Amino acid sequence: MTTDILIIGAGIAGVTAAYFLAPKHRVVILEREPQPGYHTSGRSAAQFAEAFGSPIVRALARASRGFFERPPPGFADHPLLTPRASLVVARAGQEAELVAEQVACAAIGIVTDLVDEAGARRLFPPLARGLYSAGLSEPGAGDLDVDALLQGYLRGARAAGVRLVTDAEVTALERRAGQWHARTRAGDFAAPIVIDAAGAWADAIARLAGARPLGLVPKRRTALVFAAPADTGDTSAWAHTGDADETWYVKPQRGAFMGSLSDATPDEPRDAWPDDLDVAQAVANIEAATNLRVGRPIRSWAGLRSFVPDGTPVAGFAADAEGLFWLAGLGGVGMLTSPAMGHAVAGLIAVGDVPAELYAFGVTAATLSPARPGL
Ligand SMILES: Cc1cc2nc3c(=O)[nH]c(=O)nc-3n(C[C@H](O)[C@H](O)[C@H](O)COP(=O)(O)OP(=O)(O)OC[C@H]3O[C@@H](n4cnc5c(N)ncnc54)[C@H](O)[C@@H]3O)c2cc1C
Repeated sequence: MTTDILIIGAGIAGVTAAYFLAPKHRVVILEREPQPGYHTSGRSAAQFAEAFGSPIVRALARASRGFFERPPPGFADHPLLTPRASLVVARAGQEAELVAEQVACAAIGIVTDLVDEAGARRLFPPLARGLYSAGLSEPGAGDLDVDALLQGYLRGARAAGVRLVTDAEVTALERRAGQWHARTRAGDFAAPIVIDAAGAWADAIARLAGARPLGLVPKRRTALVFAAPADTGDTSAWAHTGDADETWYVKPQRGAFMGSLSDATPDEPRDAWPDDLDVAQAVANIEAATNLRVGRPIRSWAGLRSFVPDGTPVAGFAADAEGLFWLAGLGGVGMLTSPAMGHAVAGLIAVGDVPAELYAFGVTAATLSPARPGL
């Protein structure tokens, strides 16, 4: 079949792009797996924070907050964003890093609070005594309802005519007579524009199209859920907490805790699986840093966070393959930046520029471009 835009990949990047493109374009999403969100987008920690990542990532997060707080009518039955402070704790000698981070945040209007050890424990009561001397909290952070977000984008996209084709791995891409032709076992599809939203496989899609890969590196991150002791009490106000060295983080999650090793191990594009040693290390690190006893996790998993060399997401047409649009390198922020990235994609495809509201945050076509310096 022929359409205006083919999107390869039904993770958060692909479905968000479809949602924001749908009002003006005919869109088909091609997804290899039987359901959307099977890979990285189904494996996140669902955190929203502004004080995280590169300056452009922070700008994208700030530009996304309004959508999460006030989604369009009918988008979701529950709030998309539930307040939960984030907290980074530091050992003696690392306080200057927290101060520098606070100054950088203040310069772009992100509110953070420096706390001492007692203040950190008020935000996260299980913190082990005597290990961490200070913390930097972001009171405006929160938990995203990732399922509601993904389903909301998909529902809205479908209502506007987008077709999602699952079990449709793109195995060949060829440009003929101004159209991309994508071959899948669900049939052949053609469109003048292809959006490469294939997550860890985005470089592989570029190779299929004959374009230069961006040097994307999928990095494995290990996560687990463990039971909360019966006497834990109300954890709803506890902060999402991790250490400045990025060796662990923990957050309360529906009567349990979610934790991670905060690892970033270079990997291959694949259905990622947690390494037993990484799970054991996550348990050890969390137990050393807190008075929580993880024991045997209820479940553990791993996901691939894919980064381009400068760590900032990419959205824009490839310079070396007409009609091929990159939407890749979402790293650890694909959820929390999704509305801004969706707006950016829609603007870049419709008029060749990001919408003015993103400029106000410092996000421009150049800052997201696959041709920016360093890529
Ligand atoms: C442990 C962990 C914690 C995280 N925590 C957070 C967080 O707190 N907040 C946050 O914002 N982000 C977080 N992230 C990051 C976030 O999950 C990612 O940035 C995001 O999911 C990336 O989405 P994506 O659509 O690019 O990739 P994916 O979700 O992987 O989607 C890519 C899709 O492309 C499909 N595909 C690939 N090749 C083909 C092909 N040839 N044909 C058809 N389809 C194809 C795949 O099957 C896949 O469904 C976390 C990630 C992990 C692993």
